[in-house]
Amino acid sequence: MERRVISTKMQEEDIKIESSLRPQTLADYIGQEKIKDNLAVYIEAARQRQEALDHVLFFGPPGLGKTTLAGIIANEMGTHLKITSGPAIAKPGEMAAILNGLSEGDILFIDEIHRLNRQVEEVLYSAMEDFYIDVVIGKESGAAARTIRLDLPPFTLVGATTRAGDLTAPLRDRFGIVSKLEYYTENQLMDIVSRSSKVFNVVAEKDAVREIAIRSRGTPRIANRLLRRVRDFAQVYNDGHLDLNVTNHALDALKVDGLGLDEVDLRYLRGIIERFKGGPVGLESLASAISEEATTLEDVYEPYLIQIGFVNRTPRGRVATPKAYEHLKINFNGTLFEGEF
Ligand code: ADP
Repeated sequence: MERRVISTKMQEEDIKIESSLRPQTLADYIGQEKIKDNLAVYIEAARQRQEALDHVLFFGPPGLGKTTLAGIIANEMGTHLKITSGPAIAKPGEMAAILNGLSEGDILFIDEIHRLNRQVEEVLYSAMEDFYIDVVIGKESGAAARTIRLDLPPFTLVGATTRAGDLTAPLRDRFGIVSKLEYYTENQLMDIVSRSSKVFNVVAEKDAVREIAIRSRGTPRIANRLLRRVRDFAQVYNDGHLDLNVTNHALDALKVDGLGLDEVDLRYLRGIIERFKGGPVGLESLASAISEEATTLEDVYEPYLIQIGFVNRTPRGRVATPKAYEHLKINFNGTLFEGEF
C-alpha cells in the first residue's frame, strides 16, 4: 500500500479520521463556491417540489471533497447516503441489488464511476433515466430465461471520477448536473487546517497553519494528513504547541518540500528532464523509466504538477517547463547550476 505522506489516495488512517473532519453542511464546506451556490439552488428546488435531486457527476483529482459533497447532499436533502465504487461492483446482479435496496430520495454515491464494467454500467441507464431495471431470472436453473421489470423509487446517483473523459457518452449524458472540482487556494486550505485543528483540539499558530496549507498541493485530504503528522511532532517536541518551527521541522522530516512536492514528484520531474531531455516524452515511457504505473501518474501525480505549471501535456507527450528546471536547480540545457548539489 502506498505510504506517501502527500498521497491524495485514501490511507487506512484517513478512513477513520476523515469522517470526524468531514463538513456536514454546505455552509461548513470550504471553497468550491460556484459548485456550492449551484447545488444550494438545485437542492432547494428539489426539496420544494418534493422530488429526488437530479443525478450529479463530480470530477477532479482525489482528495478534493467529492465524497464529502455527496454526504452533504444527502444531509441537506434529509435522505440517506449509500457509498460504493466502480471496481467494487463486479456483476450486473450486484448493481441491481444495490439499486433495489434504495429508498425514495436516497443518494447512491459511486466513486471511480469510470471503472464500472460495461455490463454493470448498462444497468444504470434505465435506472437513472426512468427508475426501473430489467432483471433476468431463471438463467441459472436452466429454465428459459425471462426478464422482469423492477420499478425503483426515485433516487439520486452521485458519481465521482478522476477522469471525466473516460466516461462513456450514454452514462455521462444521464447526469443532469456535472461539476468540476478545483484545487483549493492557500487561504481556503488555511481555513480547512484551522477548522481541523479545532476538531483535534490543538492550538496552531497562523504561520504554522499557512505553512501546512502551502505544502498541501491544493488538496484538503493532504492538508489534514500533514496536520496530523505535524501534531505528532508538536506533541513530542513542543509540548503540543503547533508553531512554525516545529511545522517546518516536521514537514522537512517528512520530505515534503516547500511546494508540497515529495521524492516521487521529484523523481517524475527528474525523469523527464534528465532521461528525456525535458520531453516531450510519452506517458508510458516515462512511467516505465521511473517504475510507476501510468494511470497513477496521470490521476495522482500529474494534475498538480500541471496546475502549478511544472509540466505541460502536449500531443507529443509530457514536457517539463522552465519553472520545473528552476525548482530543481537544473539549467535548461540539462546541466546543474554552478555550485549547487
Ligand atoms: P474525494 O472524494 O474527492 O477523494 P473527500 O470528500 O474524501 O475527497 O475529501 C477528503 C477529506 O478532505 C475529507 O474527509 C474532509 O476532511 C476534507 N475536505 C474535503 N473537502 C473539504 C472542504 N471543502 N472543506 C473542508 N474539508 C474538506
